[in-house]
Amino acid sequence: MKICKSCVLPVNFPHITFASDGACNLCRSYKGSSEAGRLKKEYKDKFELLLKKIASKGAYDILVCYSGGKDSTYVLSVFKEMYGLKILAFTFDNGFIPERTFINIRNAIERLDVDHIFFKPRFNLLKKIFREAVKGFLYPMKAMERASLICTSCIGLVKYTALKLAIEKEIPFVGFGWSPGQAPVTSSILKINPRMVKSMEDVIKRPIVEVAGKEMEGYFLNERHYSKPDKFPIYIHPLAFLKYDEKAILNKVKKLGWIEPRGLDLNSTNCYLNSFANAAHKRRYGFHPYVFEIAALVREGCMSREEGLRRIRNTGDRKTIEMVKRRLAI
Ligand SMILES: [Zn+2]
Repeated sequence: MKICKSCVLPVNFPHITFASDGACNLCRSYKGSSEAGRLKKEYKDKFELLLKKIASKGAYDILVCYSGGKDSTYVLSVFKEMYGLKILAFTFDNGFIPERTFINIRNAIERLDVDHIFFKPRFNLLKKIFREAVKGFLYPMKAMERASLICTSCIGLVKYTALKLAIEKEIPFVGFGWSPGQAPVTSSILKINPRMVKSMEDVIKRPIVEVAGKEMEGYFLNERHYSKPDKFPIYIHPLAFLKYDEKAILNKVKKLGWIEPRGLDLNSTNCYLNSFANAAHKRRYGFHPYVFEIAALVREGCMSREEGLRRIRNTGDRKTIEMVKRRLAI
């Protein structure tokens, strides 16, 4: 399989083109690290200015979507220690969190001294959604370029349950641990509004309700939320404007009592479902669902190309994949 000589995108990735020198169109249009550095600084300054302007009137400044993986654990420490924010951490339990991750979460929130809540939807409902997502066709085709459809479903539920909570509790910021490859710096500070949310929400909500039933509607926003546009928070993902160095991140989270769980694939540090989702995506579409993210990390110099190739060639843990299939009855 032909792969871009600069990043890791394969020739069968949607809309990719290669020049005669073997570089893909995304690498050819990449503006270089000095432009990336300038944008990072611009957005970091913008966030710091926002923090001065927007003070929470309630108990919390920020709701942090906290998966218990290395990146979101690190982000929790950034918001607490670098910015001194009052944090409510929020963990969505999709039924595939390793036991070690529960310990990691407890260690980090205790050491960082932040409030935390778990939300675990009924597994039966999630099971229906994941089983359907693996067959494909739930969302617009474009969704499969950036992540497996299982991941897209799960993250969608995380996002909207978190957003509801932030609106209800009047928390002005919602924080995420997206890597710079998952979301570009230009979207790292995003003031959302009801109209924008409604159209994004519909894409995820409609198929999920269709597959798992009307009771899923309760996991999304309702008219009460949409009638309060001034309570809509600002989304922040700081790893896009801070230095993203996996080694430094691991060193930091280890100090918070974080230990990497066993049985995971190389692209997740907190979810068993990921190995299965990756394998199913690769079989169906012919490329790894993390390849777009990893290609961006390689392009931006956050990861070596060799390491990127290792991650997309990794097939995950066989025993974990079997366990997931049993649990989903696939
Ligand atoms: Zn490339």
